[in-house]
Amino acid sequence: MVSVDQERVNLLGLERPALEAFVGSIGSKPFRARQLMQWIYGRGESRFAAMTDLAKDFRARLADCAEVRAPAIVTTQRSADGTRKWLLRADAVQAIEMVFIPEEGRGTLCISSQVGCALDCSFCSTAQQGFNRNLSTAEIVGQVWLAARELERDFVPPPGASPGQRAITNVVLMGMGEPLANFRNVVPALRIFTDDFGFDLSRRRVTLSTSGLVPQIYKLAEEVNVALAVSLHAPTDELRSVLVPINRKHPIAELLEACWHYLDEQNGRSVTFEYVMLDGVNDQPEHARGLVRLLKGHPAKLNLIPFNPFPGTRYRRSSPAAIQRFRDELLSRGVLATVRRTRGEDIDAACGQLAGRVENRTTVRLGSKMIGVAVQT
Ligand code: SAH
Repeated sequence: MVSVDQERVNLLGLERPALEAFVGSIGSKPFRARQLMQWIYGRGESRFAAMTDLAKDFRARLADCAEVRAPAIVTTQRSADGTRKWLLRADAVQAIEMVFIPEEGRGTLCISSQVGCALDCSFCSTAQQGFNRNLSTAEIVGQVWLAARELERDFVPPPGASPGQRAITNVVLMGMGEPLANFRNVVPALRIFTDDFGFDLSRRRVTLSTSGLVPQIYKLAEEVNVALAVSLHAPTDELRSVLVPINRKHPIAELLEACWHYLDEQNGRSVTFEYVMLDGVNDQPEHARGLVRLLKGHPAKLNLIPFNPFPGTRYRRSSPAAIQRFRDELLSRGVLATVRRTRGEDIDAACGQLAGRVENRTTVRLGSKMIGVAVQT
């Protein structure tokens, strides 16, 4: 039995087998875990007393030693285009951000995996904040749980929606942090997102975006099956090492090999390569031709992201004409490419603009040197 004065177990941090074990440990049948998950994830319920089809004494035991606790909301902002951004409290000092992007027929929630980031990509605002800590599984899952509750309060399914369609149809780990640097806490969260008794999202609708931690991509291939996005941003090692310093440790050829391995293992369709469009830096025809050499004939899609500026940045966004030309160059040479529509700019909710509130704990931030310290698997 778990004693009352012990810290409560946050159930949002437990994937199904762990929850079954926990339920068993407080004297109930492990299969009750599924019922509990349906209450928590299916209905967004956090009060055990309201879970009326569970035995009363089981509910009482849960109330004694467990809780369903998501991060608290500090502020909510709404963009003119319907995008919403939340600042969430991670602890007394730290805060993280998450963003909801409504589109026709789908709603994408972009969540954070760390307080800050240690990877130091030169065009990313989160990197400027430095790194504080990994989020726990409960804090990662709690973002989706909380957003679902907030959004479903006034959610009206669009005409023609499938029965039971929910406000959040897609989850992307593209907020603050490098998810593969927090592997141990991210993987159980991914499992809860796709579990039938969890958020029940299809594997194609959960996307993990990484700056390219090669060993962790191999590990991920053995652990879960979700869509993979990779921040490529440059066709040569020389340029990529400036933009994404982890490239000095894991260069492009090794990264691509890991991506193709991931697809083989997962039976996946393709990898999405993100490519931020920086004026005069990586947006020239020679860069497009370089990408063609890397990706042509492989199951790859390029997602061109117009750079989103933030205070103090030395980069500028490529012009719309340059972005179109770049895309056309890729398409005409047989590489699939789309341009990501910028959303939520008026509330600083666009890609790379999530800053939260981070007390930097990294004393020396020397790019790849730091990465060795901050990566936990
Ligand atoms: N750490 C993960 C997820 C982070 S952000 C990763 O690196 O993939 C999701 C995407 O936004 C990444 O491709 C990232 O490189 C990109 N991004 C970062 N800063 C940006 C900015 N200022 N403008 C546009 N995209 C940016």
